[in-house]
Amino acid sequence: MQLWAVLERVENEPVQTLLVVGAGPKALAVAAKSHVLRSLGLPAPRVVVVEAHAVGGNWLPTGGWTDGQHRLGTSPEKDIGFPYHSTWARGRNREIDRAMSAYSWTSFLIEHGTYAEWIDRGRPSPQHHVWAKYLQWVAKSIDLELVIGRVEQIRHDDRWQARVVDADGAATELSADGLMITGPGRSSRALAEHPRVLSIAKFWDLAGKRSLPAASRAAVIGGGETAGSALDELVRHEMLTISVISPMATIYTRGESYFENSLFSDPVKWNALSIQERRDVIRRTDRGVFSVRVQESLLGDSRVHHLQGRVTKVVPAGDSLALTLTNELRADQVHNFDLVVDATGGQPLWFLEMFDQQTADQLELAVGGPLTQNRIESSIGYDLAVNGLASKLYLPNMAAMAQGPGFPNLSCLGELSDRVLRTVPARSHVSAAQAVSR
Ligand SMILES: Cc1cc2nc3c(=O)[nH]c(=O)nc-3n(C[C@H](O)[C@H](O)[C@H](O)COP(=O)(O)OP(=O)(O)OC[C@H]3O[C@@H](n4cnc5c(N)ncnc54)[C@H](O)[C@@H]3O)c2cc1C
Repeated sequence: MQLWAVLERVENEPVQTLLVVGAGPKALAVAAKSHVLRSLGLPAPRVVVVEAHAVGGNWLPTGGWTDGQHRLGTSPEKDIGFPYHSTWARGRNREIDRAMSAYSWTSFLIEHGTYAEWIDRGRPSPQHHVWAKYLQWVAKSIDLELVIGRVEQIRHDDRWQARVVDADGAATELSADGLMITGPGRSSRALAEHPRVLSIAKFWDLAGKRSLPAASRAAVIGGGETAGSALDELVRHEMLTISVISPMATIYTRGESYFENSLFSDPVKWNALSIQERRDVIRRTDRGVFSVRVQESLLGDSRVHHLQGRVTKVVPAGDSLALTLTNELRADQVHNFDLVVDATGGQPLWFLEMFDQQTADQLELAVGGPLTQNRIESSIGYDLAVNGLASKLYLPNMAAMAQGPGFPNLSCLGELSDRVLRTVPARSHVSAAQAVSR
């Protein structure tokens, strides 16, 4: 009885200062919504964003996930306010939507005088570096509170404390009562240490310098967006064969019909689906699928093949590498390649590396056991925060199963910001002026 009372109080506790790790689309969506709410006289937390590189860093060549030249898979109109259907404050929602539209993709184009051209060219998906420019424009327009530096350590006592280290090695301690983690973590991980096994960061670095090693048999490990972009690049190079290695039976094309898309834009029906149905939707539309655009560019290329299996061993063999592929119902197979790109993508639990032991223990207590992806995913509540923690820890990247498939990606950033900011009760105005201390 007493425990419930404590939890209920914690659930309703307003977040006064929200610290966000990473200045990507999610940070900008939440910061812009908070800016709009405050400018309309509504209560919203002060949002402070810490970014290791630059706003939109992961969409630029320096972020290690792209060369910046490849194109967004989703429509840019799924911008930081999409779907412009706020449910945040009864009676004020359309006003909030109108104010948010000042930071939309189309407003960005109008401001830069390129709107008509974009329409006349058939609304092309922008290159990743242009998407980063859009995010930078939003940051400037809302006067984003940005701290440039890498969050290296996070601990929780009665508030969140983050140790941030800048490019010169100087450390700062930031403190806030809510914390949101964004992004996929590091891109420098590679399956093996070998000059011909490239992490995705190394791959884009070399591709950008036009110095990818010459190869005749290339392999890309992974079946998602990261692998799709790498393949899109590799097919532009002279190679005899390019193999995509993934554990699934085939490379699926992302389901992009109205019915699938609408579940991403508006997750209102998500709760009514069984866990099995949710898994099915995510499998067909999100994890391990290539966008229709990437599939189309690969289909016509007879050098591209799919190999099923998990890579369980990498052995250098002269100038090439022998990869062992394991499948449950078949004997292991060995294939030789002279260039391997590890495009398996981000690590969902990457942020735990930053947590000290005491904070990890608190999280373990909240989720009810050792920190596994499944357990954390199931603990994500309506506001995209871990249920039962004394201070809010928002993990939208892990919210797909529990709350809706659009939250980890760019499908419903406006809904995401509504959910995150809903912890602040609409009735009480909160003064957040001094909440972050340096
Ligand atoms: C190549 C590629 C293409 C994609 N295309 C699409 C697409 O078309 N549509 C779609 O919906 N999704 C796409 N995705 C998925 C995409 O990553 C997510 O949808 C979206 O970018 C996530 O936004 P975010 O705000 O969480 O993080 P990000 O945009 O990834 O931003 C995270 C930021 O955190 C920073 N950072 C990391 N660690 C730290 C630290 N310790 N301290 C401080 N800052 C840190 C990084 O520098 C980065 O700027 C794509 C992914 C990849 C890899």
